[in-house]
Amino acid sequence: MRFPFALTRKIAGHIIRHKIRKTPKFAMVLQLEPLHTCNLTCTGCGRIREYSTSLKDMVPLEKCLQAALECDAPMVSICGGEPLIYPKIEELIQGLLDQGRVIYVCTNGMFMRKKMRDYLAAIYTPAMEPTLARLLENQLISPKEAETIRNADAAARSKTVIRPTQWMYWNVHVDGLEYTHDLIVEREGVFAECVQAIKMAKICGYQVATNTTVYRETQVTELEDMFRFLSSLQVDGHTISPGYDYDAAKKDMVKRLGKDPQEFFLTRQMTRQKFARIEEWGRAFTIFGTPVYQEFLAGKRELTCTAWAIPTYNVKGWKAPCYLMTDGHYDGYQEMLAKVQWDKYGVVQGVARDPRCEHCMVHCGYDPSGALGTNYQSGDNWKNFKYNFGTKPKPHPASRELTQRAFNGFTVGKGHLAEAKAAINPSLSGARSAYANQSTPAKTEGHEAHVGTHCGTPEVTGNETSAAKTEN
Ligand code: SF4
Ligand code: SF4
Repeated sequence: MRFPFALTRKIAGHIIRHKIRKTPKFAMVLQLEPLHTCNLTCTGCGRIREYSTSLKDMVPLEKCLQAALECDAPMVSICGGEPLIYPKIEELIQGLLDQGRVIYVCTNGMFMRKKMRDYLAAIYTPAMEPTLARLLENQLISPKEAETIRNADAAARSKTVIRPTQWMYWNVHVDGLEYTHDLIVEREGVFAECVQAIKMAKICGYQVATNTTVYRETQVTELEDMFRFLSSLQVDGHTISPGYDYDAAKKDMVKRLGKDPQEFFLTRQMTRQKFARIEEWGRAFTIFGTPVYQEFLAGKRELTCTAWAIPTYNVKGWKAPCYLMTDGHYDGYQEMLAKVQWDKYGVVQGVARDPRCEHCMVHCGYDPSGALGTNYQSGDNWKNFKYNFGTKPKPHPASRELTQRAFNGFTVGKGHLAEAKAAINPSLSGARSAYANQSTPAKTEGHEAHVGTHCGTPEVTGNETSAAKTEN
């Protein structure tokens, strides 16, 4: 099966229950942001900019768990900020698992290995030596870290840790191959660390997914190579979503980078061009998302936005109308459902009800539409069934050539920061700058410079409505 049976059954059961009860609007995935603090400052990240005045605030553990109970979504995507910075992340994951939810921990990957070492220390017995040997052989832990795992004290052994389970996925942010990804996150070495973390997770028995945002300058050939490479690492699934213009990122681009945002974001037409082959990708790789949503991305049909099905809860409350756009925050999910004028948003038959929605085709607005049958066409249920229950694509064979194509940046001396430094100091030879021509993104090895991201999902911000809760 393409996806684990228990997981598919849980989600299908949730939809069927609500359909029988004729619930008009209900949650499928909770986007839970316990904090917006992050260890990275990716170019154009809407979250760390939109919530810049509350970066130190956190949602208390009990409130996070209460939010999940309240909206009762079967899946919870814990995002942020970087959720592994949240001091009670282990307890949060355990609490959500105890509620019977499927968890996606959306991370930039930088603290994953530390969390997995904590897990190994908590469960260590001599029977685990072959696992430690594999981790050492692949340089995923150091000999000193192996010793720390073996000699864990009582506190380390009794700690709540993040354990592998069929109900949890690490969901690692990967926006391209090495050069591109490190450029987007504005730090060299992040791609390499993500790859190490993914390898360690697979050896330790975790499920791993990745999430990728596609921008105007994203090369389709690079995306396909990225899927091949991730598949060769045995990654269990991929979320892919089109990038989209959003105010926080636009302002950052103009102010900090001196770039014209028009150059970077996808229109609807461009999205359809980029995603023209998504159905092929869905056959070759384990792409999350319904085939109906894939047809929408490929331009074969229209869907209506169902943003209420993927609500976002964070330090300010329930964010409306969607993960991307902020017109208000509410105290309760039901209150948000009741007070937001949902028919003001989305695109219907190609006409934007709100100009900010015009080019949006993101998964958090439209993927649930495919699962919920809001624009049902004959045969859709069968298509979804066939996709979910179809054979899981085989991992792409690993090869030296593929690895060489993946590591095309910092690790082979082609890091973007070297280029940026060279631009500032032209006496440094041999480097071309990603920032040298402010009007044209630089191309390196066939990959153009990227900007604008938020851990796989970009942002749109707007004005708060008077119906919304008063902000702190
Ligand atoms: S920005 Fe996208 S997800 Fe949000 S309301 Fe508009 S169409 Fe829906
Ligand atoms: S995009 Fe994600 S990793 Fe990057 S700064 Fe924003 S929250 Fe952090």
